Amino acid sequence: MKNRKTDASRRKFIKQSSIAGMATVLTMGATSSILAGTLNSAGTPAILGGTSAWDKARWIKWPIWIPEADEKGVLDVLRSGVWSRAAKVDEFEREWSKACGVKRTLTVSNGTNALVVALNQLDIKGGDEVLVPPYTFIATVQAILANGAMPVFVDVDPETFQIDPDKIEAKITPRTKAILPVHIMGLPADMIRIMAIAKKHNLLVVEDACQAPLAEINKQGVGTFGNAGCFSFQNSKNIAIGEGGAIISNDDAFMDKCVSYQNLGLPYGSAVGTIATGSIRLGTKVRFTEYQAAIGLAQLKRLEAQTVIRNENAAYLKSKLEKIPGILPYRLYPGVTRAAFHLFPFRYKQEQFQGLSRADFLTALRAEGVPCSSGYAPLNTQEFLKDAFASKNFKKMYPKELLDYTKYMERNQCPKNDQLCSEAVWFTQNLLLGSREDMDSIVYAIDKIHKNAGAIKTSMKK
Ligand SMILES: *Cc1c(COP(=O)(O)O)cnc(C)c1O
Repeated sequence: MKNRKTDASRRKFIKQSSIAGMATVLTMGATSSILAGTLNSAGTPAILGGTSAWDKARWIKWPIWIPEADEKGVLDVLRSGVWSRAAKVDEFEREWSKACGVKRTLTVSNGTNALVVALNQLDIKGGDEVLVPPYTFIATVQAILANGAMPVFVDVDPETFQIDPDKIEAKITPRTKAILPVHIMGLPADMIRIMAIAKKHNLLVVEDACQAPLAEINKQGVGTFGNAGCFSFQNSKNIAIGEGGAIISNDDAFMDKCVSYQNLGLPYGSAVGTIATGSIRLGTKVRFTEYQAAIGLAQLKRLEAQTVIRNENAAYLKSKLEKIPGILPYRLYPGVTRAAFHLFPFRYKQEQFQGLSRADFLTALRAEGVPCSSGYAPLNTQEFLKDAFASKNFKKMYPKELLDYTKYMERNQCPKNDQLCSEAVWFTQNLLLGSREDMDSIVYAIDKIHKNAGAIKTSMKK
C-alpha cells in the first residue's frame, strides 16, 4: 500500500516536472501580443499603480532540469555505487575539452579551487604579485591569497566591464608573476592585447572564465589563450551542477602536475618523481565526483543551444536599450565572435533619469516584474585583504612596506571601478533564455520608468 502511494506520487511529481520542463521549452518560442502595440507609448509604471510589464513567475527558472532526459545518467551513477572519480568524470572532461576547443580538462570540486590549483601549479606563491581586475567575484582574489601571493588591482574599462589593457603595464613590478584576467559577466576580456603584454614582460596568464563558457575571440574559446583557463559549475553559472569547476590547458606537463596536486600529490602522467612509492609532490584533494559529472553531462547537452539564444537575445536587448537615454549597455571588444552572457550588464546614469537613484530605479524595475540587481561592490578596499596581510605567512614573505594596508589601498585605487560599481545594473542569464517578447517587456518596463522618472522619484521620497 505504502509503496503504491509513494509510486503514484512519484509519478505525479515526474509528470508535473516534465510539464514544467515542457513549458520551459515552449516559452522560448512562444509569441505574445500583449506588448506589441504598447512598446512606443509608455503607460503608468507599476510602482505608481500601473500594470506591471511582466509577471515575475514567467521568467525561466534556473537551473533547468528535465527529468526524462536528465535523470537516467544520475541514477545509473547512484545505483552503480561508483561515486568517486571514474569513467563519468573522464567522459565529462573529454566533452568539456571538445566544447572549449582545448587538449586537456581537469575537473575539480569548484571554480575557486580550479583557480587555486592552476595558480599553485604555475608556481605562483608567497612573494609574488598577480595582476587582477577589481570587478570580479571575490573567489578570484581569494585564490591568489590562498597561494600566499598578493593581488594587485588594475582598473577596469567601464564600457566593457573588463580589466583595462591600457592600465596593466603601469602595475608591473619585479614581483609580478602573472596576469589573471576575468571574463566577467561572460564577456571576453581583451585577450589579444593581454597576451601581447604578457609576452613582452614574460608573465604567466590564468584566465578566470568561470562566467564565460563557450565565449570566443576570433572563434577561439576563452580559457585557451593563457597558460590555463578556469571554469565554475556552481548553481547560478551557465552550466549548473551545484558545485564543480575545471581547469583547461594545452600544456600536458602542467596538466599532469595539476592532476597530481588535486589528488594528494600521487603520480600522474609525466608528473612522476624520484620517491619510489606514494605521493611525489605536495598535494591536496579537491576531486570531482561521478554524480557531478553525470549532472554536468546532462547540462552540457543544452549549453550550446542556450548560448546561441543568450547571444541573440542579448544583442536584441542591447540594440533596444541603448536607445533609452541613460542606459549604457556593455561593449564587446573587436574580435569577439561570441559571449557567454552569464549576466547582461548596463550602466545606469541617474542624471538622465531626472536624478532617480539607482536603488529606486531597481525597485521600480522589480515592481514591473523584471528581476535585477546592482552587482558587485569594490573588492580592492575590503577587510579580507587586511586580514591576509596580517597573517604569519604574508609577514614572512613580504617587506613591511608592502603590507601596510593604508599604503596598499592607495596603490590599488581603481576610480573607474568605483564608479562602475555605483552605476551597474545586471540581469541574470536565465532572463536571456526567454522569448523576443520577454526582451520587449524589459525594454517597455525601462522605457516606462524613464518617461516617469520624476514622478517615481517624488513618490519614493514620501
Ligand atoms: C563563480 C566564480 C568563481 C568561483 O567559482 P565557484 O565554483 O563558485 O567556486 C570564480 N570567479 C568568478 C568570476 C566566478 O563568477
